[in-house]
Amino acid sequence: MTETRSTPPELDDGGGGLLPAAFDPQLFRENSETALGKLEKHLSDQSIRGLELTDPAVLTAAARSLMTAEQERIAAFDEERFSGILDLYLRTGIQVHSPGYMGRQFSGVVPLSGVVDFVSSVVNQPSSFYEAGQLPNVAERIMADELNRFIGWEPGRFAMVTTSGGSLANLTALLAARNTAFPGVWARGTAAAGRDRPAVAVGADVHYSVSRAAGVMGIGEDQIVRLPLDDAHCIDVGRAGPALTAAAGRGLRVFCLVASAGTTSVGAFDPLDELADLAHARGIWLHVDGAHGASLLVSDRQRHLLRGIDKADSLTWDAHKMMFVPAPCTLLFYRDKAHSRGAFRQQASYVFDEEPDIYTALDSGDKNFECTKRPMIMTLWTLWAMYGPALFAEKIDYLCALTARAHDILEAEPDFETIHRPDANILCFRYRPAGLPESEVHRFQVAVRNRVKFQGNYFISKVDVHGVAALRVVMMNHQITPAHIRMLLAEIRKAGQELLDGAETREPQKGTIL
Ligand SMILES: *Cc1c(COP(=O)(O)O)cnc(C)c1O
Repeated sequence: MTETRSTPPELDDGGGGLLPAAFDPQLFRENSETALGKLEKHLSDQSIRGLELTDPAVLTAAARSLMTAEQERIAAFDEERFSGILDLYLRTGIQVHSPGYMGRQFSGVVPLSGVVDFVSSVVNQPSSFYEAGQLPNVAERIMADELNRFIGWEPGRFAMVTTSGGSLANLTALLAARNTAFPGVWARGTAAAGRDRPAVAVGADVHYSVSRAAGVMGIGEDQIVRLPLDDAHCIDVGRAGPALTAAAGRGLRVFCLVASAGTTSVGAFDPLDELADLAHARGIWLHVDGAHGASLLVSDRQRHLLRGIDKADSLTWDAHKMMFVPAPCTLLFYRDKAHSRGAFRQQASYVFDEEPDIYTALDSGDKNFECTKRPMIMTLWTLWAMYGPALFAEKIDYLCALTARAHDILEAEPDFETIHRPDANILCFRYRPAGLPESEVHRFQVAVRNRVKFQGNYFISKVDVHGVAALRVVMMNHQITPAHIRMLLAEIRKAGQELLDGAETREPQKGTIL
């Protein structure tokens, strides 16, 4: 270990040395202005950029070269060093604000939400307890009511907690469902389930976080009942009933059916209305994983995709996807607030009050996994307060219309194959130039995707659909227009032709970044 300090701290002048300087408000302002200037430039740059992947070793060396060599005392502030760190950060990331970015569900955030996040980081008011984050806790209640207008649950009876991401929300909802169906398990462990083997039913295309959550809860892979999908990639209600009956016959007691409102792979919406009837007739909790698609509730045009959501027992809603705020910002809703206390049945005298008063009544620490939790609602609530719901509805409508147009453009191109009609803003397709053997289609899509990625203009993803790879775009940026989609197709054709011509398939060297 290196020795970093030999003299004892000076207690009468706040530590002495350069410690106070690191907290100087004037310096803070200057640093912020440096960052803001760079961010303004970053946001103004509308050039088409995909992902410029840097060799991690090169980036590590660049990052290390920016670090102070000072080990003995606090280093004096070096403006140039700070500027270099910011430049490296902005240059090497995923370019969510460029029209070349179409590959993932991370959103091009509304810039104002970044400003609020910045404030949150400085004031640091964790939001699991009212006494620490008063406005965030009130804003959570307000946003719960505002969004519930679109869900349609009984006001005063439902509940909402924020969680650090949709994966954690899914785990929390599954815990609440499990503890409701098997009340003894929290105290006595899985033995309390007796001969019943707790099980979860999911659509075959469910997000991996759901089976991961099941694993965390001690529910094995073979206790996950995968329900068959129909041609539109949604849970096939007609075949789901028999699948549940067969599972019961194998000794599985399905306590939760997870439907997806927007699957990650193709953006398909399961039929919630019918699935709710099916689940409730069998005493099964219906959880809706709307991490991607719940935001469509805010749009008059798209809301029909979630018909029946009012019958669900719980709902995961990622605002950091289609509400365009920084990650993480996830809302987990329960139709019945009594269930929100069922996920974690604990007592901890240092934080949980025995007799809640009007202040502690807003605490969520007993209902969410996190102890210290970001006041993530502040970004969403501020946008809602400033612009109203139409900001979200308009952007969502644009993205869905753009994706439908992309589908139509592809339909007209004989060398492209469409796979599904997009419900929302996710579209999968294949590039199949004449003469490409059937046996090569899978490998070719992967190779095309990688080549497009390394060319650096467009960032798209890939996913297996019915076991065969497909190219995938996720429209998260309203600055993308149909012209960009046509340019993407040209880029894909070029990459594909180069591959067919046997051109060098190795990734181009991107050695230097500075
Ligand atoms: C993104 C996503 C998740 C995971 O949410 P995170 O916020 O990334 O943890 C879960 N389910 C679906 C359907 C998703 O699209």
